[in-house]
Amino acid sequence: MQNTVAKVAVVGSGISGSVCAATLARNGMSVTLFDSARGPGGRMSQRREISEDGRELLFDHGAPYFTVTNPDVFSVVTEWESRGLVAEWKSNFGSFDCFTNKFVNTEQQERESKKYVGVPGMNSICKALCHEPGVDSKFNMGIGKFEWLERENLWSLIGLDGQHLGHFKGVVASDKNIASPRFTAITGQLPPLGMKVYV
Ligand SMILES: Cc1cc2nc3c(=O)[nH]c(=O)nc-3n(C[C@H](O)[C@H](O)[C@H](O)COP(=O)(O)OP(=O)(O)OC[C@H]3O[C@@H](n4cnc5c(N)ncnc54)[C@H](O)[C@@H]3O)c2cc1C
Repeated sequence: MQNTVAKVAVVGSGISGSVCAATLARNGMSVTLFDSARGPGGRMSQRREISEDGRELLFDHGAPYFTVTNPDVFSVVTEWESRGLVAEWKSNFGSFDCFTNKFVNTEQQERESKKYVGVPGMNSICKALCHEPGVDSKFNMGIGKFEWLERENLWSLIGLDGQHLGHFKGVVASDKNIASPRFTAITGQLPPLGMKVYV
């Protein structure tokens, strides 16, 4: 029997790749998500450290919060809130000055819009979306090349170390570096995606 489920690859497990992967899967696609990092989140990831007295310390080292203005995004965030993935941050925000060991510029004024944070950390949103049914997430797997197979009408994905990672009906690149000369500066390889457009 012919498999009628379209296979799609999403590259990047930051907020844009994770939302895209979960949305495609909810719409019946078979999604494989690739990220070169150890875990999900991209610029919304979390770092874990153990203090000298053995306590676990968690740091959100990218976006500390986000606000919502778009009604479509608001309905998505409301769903995340009902699942316990995000919550409104009701305390103050401030900056920590590591020279004086004090918090400075602590926000006191009335806020214009709700600030949301991930629960327990900012990466919880991407973590949950990357593990939704229909999404197969693969970490520590950097994409080195997207190859268009004219005869098969499919994309072939190749890892940074040259390994073959599968054929896909569609691909989504969620990080602009995938088509940028910056990729060469980081990896010494050509960008995975050229700027030639296939129609
Ligand atoms: C310090 C800091 C503070 C911020 N503060 C705020 C804030 O207060 N509010 C706010 O709204 N935003 C804030 N931002 C911005 C916000 O974090 C980003 O806009 C958002 O997280 C970007 O998400 P993204 O999915 O587009 O990209 P990213 O999160 O960058 O995700 C891209 C992913 O693609 C992966 N990837 C790239 N190339 C490859 C490859 N070849 N193969 C496999 N995987 C690959 C990367 O590993 C990464 O995980 C902040 C960012 C930083 C760094």
